Amino acid sequence: MNIYDYSKSDLEEYFESINEKRYKAKQVYDWLYKKRVKSFDEMSNIKKDIIQKLKEDFTFNTIEIVKVQNGNDVHKFLFKLKDNNYIEAVLMNHDYGNSLCISTEVGCNMGCAFCESGRVKKIRDLEVSEMTCQILLIEEHLNIRISHVVLMGIGEPFDNFDNVMKFIDIINDDNGISIGSRHITISTCGIVPKIREFTKMHKQVNLAISLHAPNDKLRSKLMKINKVYPISEVIKAVKDYLKENNRKVTFEYIMLKGVNDKKEHALELSKLLKGMNAYVNLIPYNETSHIEFKPTFRDEIMKFYDILKKNRINVTIRKEFGSGIDAACGQLRTKYKEDI
Ligand code: SAH
Repeated sequence: MNIYDYSKSDLEEYFESINEKRYKAKQVYDWLYKKRVKSFDEMSNIKKDIIQKLKEDFTFNTIEIVKVQNGNDVHKFLFKLKDNNYIEAVLMNHDYGNSLCISTEVGCNMGCAFCESGRVKKIRDLEVSEMTCQILLIEEHLNIRISHVVLMGIGEPFDNFDNVMKFIDIINDDNGISIGSRHITISTCGIVPKIREFTKMHKQVNLAISLHAPNDKLRSKLMKINKVYPISEVIKAVKDYLKENNRKVTFEYIMLKGVNDKKEHALELSKLLKGMNAYVNLIPYNETSHIEFKPTFRDEIMKFYDILKKNRINVTIRKEFGSGIDAACGQLRTKYKEDI
């Protein structure tokens, strides 16, 4: 078992199971996430016989960085996993801090029509350690502190639910990486039973829903998942989430030229979200070489924005990052094998 797969409570249970005090978990956590050691031998305040036992029961084996592409305010990392699969993460330097966009699965099965990342079908879930180590390795590589984490890289976080929840606990833990829950955002394409499960957990992290269309006819064309969980069910689940959690929800809306960006769509969207404690994040579409969609012109995005505003919908426009190095949303797809 990889030591980075264990939450603090898992480790507490582990120490109890070997007749040791639970507080040892906190000590190990401190070595792993505060002092960032890479071996049990360096954990100098832990007794030799326990170190020996830890060495027998756990590995430190992590992912490795195999390629870095640097752009303006953005760095894209390619990681090799121990089974020779590859994943990617993107670090963005914002004025408010460093935000890391991490992957949650190898490939993705959601099959959204506009998304380049989803062209590679899901091979497997990422383990907890493979998500955590994306943060640890990038902090070490760039000698920085990551302040924000968004689960918006390759994969559907709610399709790898248990691992993602444990990952959040680890990075949020004060003895762990200690990233504030309000600085963590999970983005989902709208898997309704999982939104409901998430609601019951009362985690204080941000929830973002990839909506992208104001009606089922259009959304089903763009996102396969809408045929299983139509908009009305997603909205109902989000309303219940808002009732139980004192948080705002973001609806992500990619602006696709001539597809979902017309006045009537803005009006329909306003009606759909009226009165909800939510805001819409309009996302300029990042063109990809394989897909026929085109981005909406800036002035058309502004018109759409104005209609939402006029209808009292909170709305923002996402800053674009990384298109020059194929690190933009939906473009995380390993070209590595093609490149070498
Ligand atoms: N599966 C999750 C998280 C990964 S996608 C989800 O669907 O939310 C993260 C966000 O990037 C989603 O809103 C997705 O729709 C968006 N996205 C995908 N391809 C894009 C592209 N080419 N340009 C801009 N945003 C894109």
